Amino acid sequence: MTKKIAVLPGDGIGPEIVAEAVKVLECLRADGLDIEMNEAPVGGAGYEASGKPLPDDTLALAKESDAILLGAVGGYQWESLDISVRPEKGLLGLRAELELFSNLRPAILYKQLADASTLKPEVVSGLDIMIVRELTGGIYFGQPRGVRTLDNGERQGFNTLVYSESEIDRIGRSAFDIAMKRGKKVCSVDKANVLECTELWREVMEHVAKDYPEVELSHMYVDNAAMQLVRAPKQFDVMVTTNMFGDILSDCAAMLTGSIGMLPSASLDANGKGMYEPIHGSAPDIAGQNVANPLATILSVAMMLRYSLNQVVMAERIEQAVEKVLDQGLRTADIYSDGMQKVGGSEMGDAVVAAL
Ligand code: NAD
Repeated sequence: MTKKIAVLPGDGIGPEIVAEAVKVLECLRADGLDIEMNEAPVGGAGYEASGKPLPDDTLALAKESDAILLGAVGGYQWESLDISVRPEKGLLGLRAELELFSNLRPAILYKQLADASTLKPEVVSGLDIMIVRELTGGIYFGQPRGVRTLDNGERQGFNTLVYSESEIDRIGRSAFDIAMKRGKKVCSVDKANVLECTELWREVMEHVAKDYPEVELSHMYVDNAAMQLVRAPKQFDVMVTTNMFGDILSDCAAMLTGSIGMLPSASLDANGKGMYEPIHGSAPDIAGQNVANPLATILSVAMMLRYSLNQVVMAERIEQAVEKVLDQGLRTADIYSDGMQKVGGSEMGDAVVAAL
């Protein structure tokens, strides 16, 4: 049956990197991949089109699709808008409406780019971590929240960290399922020494682990996890953590690999439907110049094929094509080093298609 893909380019470099990923999908379609692609605005583009960062039609398209390919949202021109209509609300809305609770963020260091990391090659070479971040709960969504004025006239900001057992259980199972297909190690990151909510997190993780006897579960406080990620990152296989801790740790892990332009992500619901996007933002500083690296978005398509469309062989073909263009010495500006061939984003996309 034809699989429906919602294509949401978004803002800034979003449209140019998504165009390269669409080239890759078109190439695979010509090779037998049975897909239909439909495009819609989101983020700042959604706001301009309809006054909402997540237009109703875009949400409806996302809901009826099997998978969503997203570029990035945000830009200087929307920064002064009321927070309720800022571009980021489009993303948060999609995650919440589609119940995309499990965010998979791999941090892989390609051997060809070992020099791009700020860490010593022996610390990072061969790095392959999967961070599983809870995405629809925790302090980013907890109520009550806001800024209130106290009796003495002073303003006070407040947010709420809240997780129910079922929310912890399902993200735990997501992490353990992935660990079963990898190195069979899960490190759950919390702050159980200070936060009651993550004390419960730890307890539920222990409970989930009983159903996965082959997987080794360990626990780590988030401050130590941040330290260990830069000290000895190869000790980790799968890390599972809360929304906010995962937000921070996954960016840290991303930088171990050198370039933000290389890393894909997936956000999945309980049935394997997912939204796929690069981990970087809309990079307004380089938008429209054909210098943005499209590989993170192209690798997001590989994750889509693997996790939502059940096309593991095609996913591997994309990953091998990316390796091949790196072997050929092609580099966008963000991963360029002496002796390599500097190319623009569209040339990089064409090279991946040629390698496919
Ligand atoms: P960013 O990720 O957009 O950019 C950080 C730096 O990395 C910039 O110097 C940028 O030029 C560079 N960069 C990013 N992607 C690149 C690529 N593919 N190739 C080469 N270089 C790349 O983060 P930021 O500057 O903090 O935020 C810019 C805007 O993006 C803001 O409006 C922010 O809210 C938004 N944002 C969106 C998302 C998302 O859509 N998921 C995520 C983060 C930030």
